[in-house]
Amino acid sequence: KDFRNKVKPNWCPGCGDFSVQAAIQRAAANVGVEPDNLAVVSGIGCSGRISGYINSYGLHGIHGRALPIAQGVKMANKDLTVIASGGDGDGFAIGMGHTIHAIRRNIDVTYIVMDNQIYGLTKGQTSPRSDVGFKTKSTPNGSVESALNVMEMALTAGATFVAQSFSTDLKELTTLIEKGINHKGFSLINVFSPCVTFNKVNTYDWFKKNLTKLTDVPDYHEENRMQAMQTLMEHNGLVTGLIYQNKQQPSYQEMLTGYSEKPLAHENLHLDEEQFNKMMVEFM
Ligand code: SF4
Repeated sequence: KDFRNKVKPNWCPGCGDFSVQAAIQRAAANVGVEPDNLAVVSGIGCSGRISGYINSYGLHGIHGRALPIAQGVKMANKDLTVIASGGDGDGFAIGMGHTIHAIRRNIDVTYIVMDNQIYGLTKGQTSPRSDVGFKTKSTPNGSVESALNVMEMALTAGATFVAQSFSTDLKELTTLIEKGINHKGFSLINVFSPCVTFNKVNTYDWFKKNLTKLTDVPDYHEENRMQAMQTLMEHNGLVTGLIYQNKQQPSYQEMLTGYSEKPLAHENLHLDEEQFNKMMVEFM
């Protein structure tokens, strides 16, 4: 299966998002999903373009709204593998309400966030992931707001799959995306994906110096939520690997009663043209 298409990404040379695209394509091939059974939904931002760069169903949505659309796609056709994607500004600022509720809903969607700690598309402003003191055009004296620790937030919101990776570690990232797709429930994968054009602080070298792999943390068990939280706090969130997974919690679809065995998208609604048009008028 080939998940490449002919569209040439217009990301800056060296942007971390190239590796995320490659990892999604590899992971999709490795788990055995067919291109016409994969949907990639994205929000707005440089990373939001990713839905157009993968040979699958793709929907480039609106700012902060990748998750509502992705959840709707999954509910309409539960046989599709659904990946939602976007940046840290998209998912953790305007889209944060959706992120928290998708987490606690535990709907079977894999959410991949390309976290560059800045707004790249709008030419460099602080994001919810920018550190205190981070200087941009919007914060010339340095940001005074503390950065959101999204992995800790996800754990407290009841996430059943929380992972983090670095875009240069293609092997680890691909494996985590495979695990996220295979997880029965909502999976959040935050990827440090450097913006080489506007973020001159959180660079590839900075991450190489500051990240700790969970495989190097002695006796780390990803099913231990307390240990996950403690490890995140000890490392200021700068860890990579599978942070937490709860395989016991049923997914949203599994908990619903009366949910059709057959994907709703394949149900025959028995509407003739007149009824269909009437329904559309009611919705408009
Ligand atoms: Fe990537 Fe930054 Fe360029 Fe956007 S501005 S494509 S995030 S390097």
